[in-house]
Amino acid sequence: MSFTQFNLHVRLHSGIEKAGYTHPTPVQTEAIPLILDGHDMIGTAQTGTGKTAAFVLPILHRLIAGTRGKTRAMIITPTRELAEQIHEAIRLLGIHTTVRSATIYGGVASKPQIRALNSGVEILVVCPGRLLDLHDQGYGDLSGVETVVLDEADRMLDMGFFPSVRKILKKLPKKRQTLLFSATFPPEVEQLAAETLHDPRRVSLSLRKPIHTVSHALYPVAPQRKTKLLLELLQQMEANSVLIFTRTKHRAQKLAQQIGRTGYKVTSLHSDRSQSQRQSALKGFKDGLYQIMVATDIAARGLDVERISHVINFDMPASPDDYIHRIGRTGRAERAGDAFTLATPEDAAMVRTLEKIIGNPIPRHQLSNFNYLLEEDESAKNDRTPRSGSFAMKHGDHFRKNSVPRRQFHSAPKKRQ
Ligand code: AMP
Repeated sequence: MSFTQFNLHVRLHSGIEKAGYTHPTPVQTEAIPLILDGHDMIGTAQTGTGKTAAFVLPILHRLIAGTRGKTRAMIITPTRELAEQIHEAIRLLGIHTTVRSATIYGGVASKPQIRALNSGVEILVVCPGRLLDLHDQGYGDLSGVETVVLDEADRMLDMGFFPSVRKILKKLPKKRQTLLFSATFPPEVEQLAAETLHDPRRVSLSLRKPIHTVSHALYPVAPQRKTKLLLELLQQMEANSVLIFTRTKHRAQKLAQQIGRTGYKVTSLHSDRSQSQRQSALKGFKDGLYQIMVATDIAARGLDVERISHVINFDMPASPDDYIHRIGRTGRAERAGDAFTLATPEDAAMVRTLEKIIGNPIPRHQLSNFNYLLEEDESAKNDRTPRSGSFAMKHGDHFRKNSVPRRQFHSAPKKRQ
């Protein structure tokens, strides 16, 4: 399989080459011909599968041929980070075209966005709220939109964006191509698809399964010992590109400070930080300036950083879907990655659910040189079994001693830089 089979415009081939893509990914092989043929499409594809290029390439192909100075495609996405990434993919793949793209989202100055809207930038990559706001003030002309993409529809539902999304869709021409991507399909997403898409084709890949290049490990621990265990874990691995997730922005901020105090180069990504702080955190992490980034789910949604070696769930994610998205930050584009989860007794039900989805028990690991005991348990020093509830030890199950899974030890555990 090669990209030439799609008969994409010749100018796109240099973009594909520049991006370093040699073969289409499975989602691209299935989706690109359908989109080029003009079909509406429902894609069940996770981030990390190459789904951005799957819709960006056919959109660019179509736009190369027509007029400039009119907005002809719109991509609606839940977060600013995702909007920036899609915009960047368009810029890269369309480098030898004259098709322009702009992002529209809240939290930053609106003047440049108004200019982009009024100049009829051909592709808009938007978060729903700001786009609606500016359009309601009379900026931009959406009457020429030929293709609209609803990206990560389930996440937009979770974030309460569906009313805005529906309002935007009403402003677009009825005759258009609509593409909807979602990792999961709760009834509201199915309903939006039924209302919005016309005779859609379905492309269904990696159905709700985490990507296979990631290996999973659980680190059972009492809640009070989590930070200490995390610091020990970091010390035992090559912590050069580690993304850590916490449940709340306050925990992200605090944990980043605690890790920073032990000598790591660390940054954080959460919604209390300004857009420019978020962008420089992300850039610094991508460029290797920071070894560790501590993030919340919303901020890290869809993050595309190559070579994240480890994702660590400091807090168990709220849903299996969040787990899949979090760990999809590593193991990207067929690279190997590790997903570690610190699990407390309260997380037992979620562990069972995750194991069902993954289809296998997740190996439990114990650091042999770590004191799992709480202070009040110090008297019971003989028992070094983690206080991690019934799910930690199952019949026939045993902890692997001193085990950060082997792959990340290339030699002896590395010293921090
Ligand atoms: P996505 O699922 O769109 O977030 O893409 C995940 C990662 O895969 C991004 O870093 C893309 O640049 C990369 N990617 C997309 N298509 C290909 C391809 N055909 N070959 C190699 N890498 C790709």
